[in-house]
Amino acid sequence: MRTGILGGTFDPIHRGHTEAATAVGSQVALDRILFMPAGDPWQKTDRDVSPGFHRLEMTRLALEWVAGLDVDSREIDRHGPTHTIDTLESFDSAEELFLIVGADAAVGISSWHRASDVLSRATVVVLPREGVDLETAARAVPEAVFIEMKPIDISSTTIRQLVRMDLPFDHLVAQRVAEYIESNGLYADVPVNR
Ligand code: ATP
Ligand code: MG
Repeated sequence: MRTGILGGTFDPIHRGHTEAATAVGSQVALDRILFMPAGDPWQKTDRDVSPGFHRLEMTRLALEWVAGLDVDSREIDRHGPTHTIDTLESFDSAEELFLIVGADAAVGISSWHRASDVLSRATVVVLPREGVDLETAARAVPEAVFIEMKPIDISSTTIRQLVRMDLPFDHLVAQRVAEYIESNGLYADVPVNR
């Protein structure tokens, strides 16, 4: 089994995530791609991350009808933040793992907990990200596979700002995710710059 893992906060999941993952599926031979929402932070970080059940539900709604992309709730179920290496080690050792990251995340991999174990357990697959230099990412993770695609200029940060400012954001997320955000009043009262 060759499994791709795309971790993130998914607050909210957006079309950049799903389109980039679909591109991975067409360029790397994988049996499945798992979207893995991160567990809730123990302490407040720079902003309040939405509770795990909201992020998990939005991820489910976005992927329900998408072949090849699945949701994995193990990090949310475990509660609290998880190191990537713990997640990788929770898979059967017979599984070949592909850790999918945006170029922004790839740049910081060497600072991750047990980074060398992460790199030996999984093949890193890097997605281009608007405004991030791919050569910097390639220097940070020389052994990575780079997906060839035009960067998709969407971030969850932008979506949260649009919601907060009461501007249209539906074109950036799946329709059911837009409905979920509205019916649960997500992001409506976070400061605009977060
Ligand atoms: P935020 O703005 O809150 O950081 P985000 O849009 O970066 O949100 P994350 O949940 O942080 O989304 O991202 C999860 C993973 O997906 C990260 O590895 C990130 O680099 C990658 N990613 C996010 N958006 C894109 C995109 N538009 N294209 C390619 N990769 C992306
Ligand atoms: Mg991010």
